[in-house]
Amino acid sequence: MAEAVDGLHEVLNRAMASQGRYENQITFEGRPGYNDAWNKCSKNPGHTYFIPIKEFSVRHLFGPFQDDQMVEMVRSIADVTVLLENKFTSTERPEMTSAGEEYPFKALRGTELARSSTGWIARARKKFESGKECPCPECIQLPSHHRVRPFGKVIVWTATHSIYDLSEALKTKVGVFYHEEDSFEGDLNIDYLQPYGIFAKDDIGDWCGIKCVTHDINLWDKIREKFLTFNKKMKEVDAKFRAVEDNLAIIVSHPHGQGARVSVGRWNYRDDMNHNDDFIQCRYGYDTPTCPGSSGAPVFILGRMSRGMYLAHPHSHVGEPTQYGESAYGINY
Ligand SMILES: [Zn+2]
Ligand SMILES: [Zn+2]
Repeated sequence: MAEAVDGLHEVLNRAMASQGRYENQITFEGRPGYNDAWNKCSKNPGHTYFIPIKEFSVRHLFGPFQDDQMVEMVRSIADVTVLLENKFTSTERPEMTSAGEEYPFKALRGTELARSSTGWIARARKKFESGKECPCPECIQLPSHHRVRPFGKVIVWTATHSIYDLSEALKTKVGVFYHEEDSFEGDLNIDYLQPYGIFAKDDIGDWCGIKCVTHDINLWDKIREKFLTFNKKMKEVDAKFRAVEDNLAIIVSHPHGQGARVSVGRWNYRDDMNHNDDFIQCRYGYDTPTCPGSSGAPVFILGRMSRGMYLAHPHSHVGEPTQYGESAYGINY
């Protein structure tokens, strides 16, 4: 029995290694696997700089950012941050990344190992639909007169290497409002959205938008309210601190499939892909700590979020030198 478990751990370790510098978590499904990965982490043992959202306060910030409004905004980011639990790796993943490395999880194409990563609610449509056919995979199987069911649409943003295409999106559960749980044990007691399509994606930029639905109007109301609050707080904080010359970079993620954790740091370089007078399409390198499971997490860049986080930067991988992280490409204003 012990040998069989050792053999499974070996499979997981090899699968983890097949992502190169990228930061998904591969594990046995559910809470025991997440806890095991968290406890055995070799990248950031102890996770001192990953603050549970309930404990996050001004003392975790520095200088001018020790401000209640900033704390509130970070909590608001956590309210729109989602856990992605995926159970399929697409046969369509390419051989190489644009940087010439082996594409993450190329070796797992066509397999059903459980992977987790992070994303965020980038858009929540104004209307809860009724009298229309629901596009979700469950409803689409039904005879057409049964497909008419109330639903609300949400767009979730993440990294392409986390959710590569529709075949992966359809096998992904999008967990919402997953903060620090009262207990470290037991099943995850959270609500999930159902993905049904790819909104937009870019392999080179490593960003992906996923179309999701829920049939639960109460959940929908809560998502919509938290999303609007998040946008408002982010714009207020952006305006308040825009003139401060500092490279603050904050990440909220689900490291090793745990409840939302905040990490705080600074960006130290920016690569531009495109820019004009209205926007910059770029990526950032930062010292903000990340761990496996942080892929796709929202990266807050001070002074660049005047329009919220639609099209902003998902965390992508470990950069160079290896203590730094690097984001996917995103749009700044
Ligand atoms: Zn870790
Ligand atoms: Zn449906």
